[in-house]
Parts: sequence; C-alpha cells; structure tokens
Amino acid sequence: MSTAPALPPVEQVLPGIWALPLPITGTGLAYVRVYAIEADDGFYLVDAGWPSPSALDLLAAGLAAAGASLADLRGVLVTHIHPDHYGLAARIREATTAWIALHPAEAALIDVRYSTESKLGASIQQWLHAAGVPHSRSEELSASMLAGPGDIGICHPDLELRHGDRPPIPGREVVAVHTPGHTPGHLMFDLPAENAVFAGDHLLSRATPNISFGPLSDPDPLSDYLRSLLAVADLGPRTAFPAHQHAIPDAASRAEELVRHHDDRLQEVLMVLRSGAETVHEVCGELAWHHRLESLPAYLVRAALGETHAHLLRLATLGAATVSPGPPQRWAAVSTRGTG
Ligand SMILES: [Zn+2]
Ligand SMILES: [Zn+2]
Repeated sequence: MSTAPALPPVEQVLPGIWALPLPITGTGLAYVRVYAIEADDGFYLVDAGWPSPSALDLLAAGLAAAGASLADLRGVLVTHIHPDHYGLAARIREATTAWIALHPAEAALIDVRYSTESKLGASIQQWLHAAGVPHSRSEELSASMLAGPGDIGICHPDLELRHGDRPPIPGREVVAVHTPGHTPGHLMFDLPAENAVFAGDHLLSRATPNISFGPLSDPDPLSDYLRSLLAVADLGPRTAFPAHQHAIPDAASRAEELVRHHDDRLQEVLMVLRSGAETVHEVCGELAWHHRLESLPAYLVRAALGETHAHLLRLATLGAATVSPGPPQRWAAVSTRGTG
C-alpha cells in the first residue's frame, strides 16, 4: 500500500516569514508551500493551498508553529488560480476576516475554470481536435482535470493587484510583480527589503514550470513567459521562495537556465517539424519527455500537448514556423537559413 509522502516541517525562512507545507493529492507534486508573513497588524499568506479535507487544520497548525492562529490572518496574496494555490481561498474567507487578492487576468478565469456552468470541457475538446488528437483519445484527455468546474469553492478577490501594486500590509513592503506565462495573471511578490521574492510557480528549483497553450491561456504563453523570466533579473539579486520544491538562492541565474531550456526545446521542436511531424499531437509524440507519454496520467499528457503547442506558437512568433487552419491545424517549419 502506498503511503502519502511526509510533509517537510514548518520552517522559518526569513525573520517573521514561515514556509507552511500543505499536501496536494493526485499530482506528482507532493505539497505546496504556503508562506506566512508577520506584519504589524497580524499575518498574511502567500497562496492559500490545496483544498484537502485536512487543509484548514494543517494551515492552523502551521500558523501555530509561527505563533499565530487563523484569527490573525488579515490577507491572502494568491499567485494564480491553480487549485494548489487558490483552492483553499474560499474556506479561508469563510473562516476568517482576511481579504483575498489576485491579478485581474487571473480573477477573470475563475468562473471559466471552476463554475458548474462552465463549458471548459467542451473548449478543451475543441482545442484537442485542432491539435490533431484522435477522437478516441480526446474525451478521456478533456475529462481528466485535477480540479475543474464544481470541484472547489469559488472565491472572487476582494482586492485586485496589478504590476507594481503594493498591497496594504502594515510594516512590510511587498510589491506585486506580474509574471504571465504559467498563467495569464500570475503574480510574484517581491520583498525589496529582504532581497527575496515569492515566486509561486514562475520559478521552481528543479522542475521547469508548465507553460501550456490551451483554452485558459493567452495566445502565445511561452513568449510571455520568456519575457517574465527576463524581468526576474531586473529585480536585482533575490532569493526566490517558490511554491514547490526548494528555495532558489539566485533567482536570476535560475531564470537564465530556464530561458536556455526553452531555447533548446524550441530547436528540438523545429527539428521534429523538419522531420515531417505536422500536428501538435504528432510533434508531441516525437519529442523527448522525462517519462514515456503512454505511461503518464491523462492530465499530464494534456500538459505535454499544451507545452508542445506553446513552443510551436513561439516558433510562429519568431517567424520559424507557420500553421494552416484545421482541424487539425498543420504546422510546418519555415525553410530559411539561420533559424537553427
Ligand atoms: Zn500553477
Ligand atoms: Zn503549483
């Protein structure tokens, strides 16, 4: 019988700032790190966590280790609306007087992703057909969602934060940094006085964050992401505290590594196009992945398709690939010298 992986302990990462790991169920990532910030009037969270049945109790226990309780919470800064970051927000709002803050581009997606009225499944199927996924596969791939319409409590933000905004946190300087790519309204939260930044899913210490095209993405999410990576260096030297895995001592050099990873991947996609693959589905099947695609759960296969599509769209923006309308859409490398 498999047992759930042990959570790392609550850890003070900076004076007055704690990392509180909360479990995630059903994904490869075992936990999400929610951060608690002590301010003059109480405590603030970066991200809310995954809405498992025990999450609120675990959050309360984590806050107790930091010398606080749920009643001390004044606000929650949510990096983006993925369920491991936003999922517990509605229950925190019910249990406390804390405000919930999000970027407007993220707030705009809440109902599309989580409302029971949402037609998200149909939009995903349409995208999969355009991507050349056979009908026999597309139903299973569109139905498998970690948390989709109806799965978690809806919580529209009390406070919308845009790039450069400073949320009202007495005694702390916190600056919202818009970093679209992983999602359209992803925010990092910069702490200039501490030379630290809460990175959400924008930077991870080991994995490369998922950058996918799909019904919830912007038109060219990889170009957005690469710009957002360059913006990390503009903050100056920073220790990044991501929502998964470990602290990153030099955020700018990790951002450079991720840019190089995507450059290599773009070249690989171009080679696969030149070898004759045409649809997103065909290109995806020819790329090297850490695990065999057939062995992956459906939601990760969809993530791989979304990543492949994002790289193709970036190549189109660079003038290195073209696409003809479908379905299925057919991609081709532009045959000029110098594109690699
Ligand atoms: Zn995410
Ligand atoms: Zn995450």
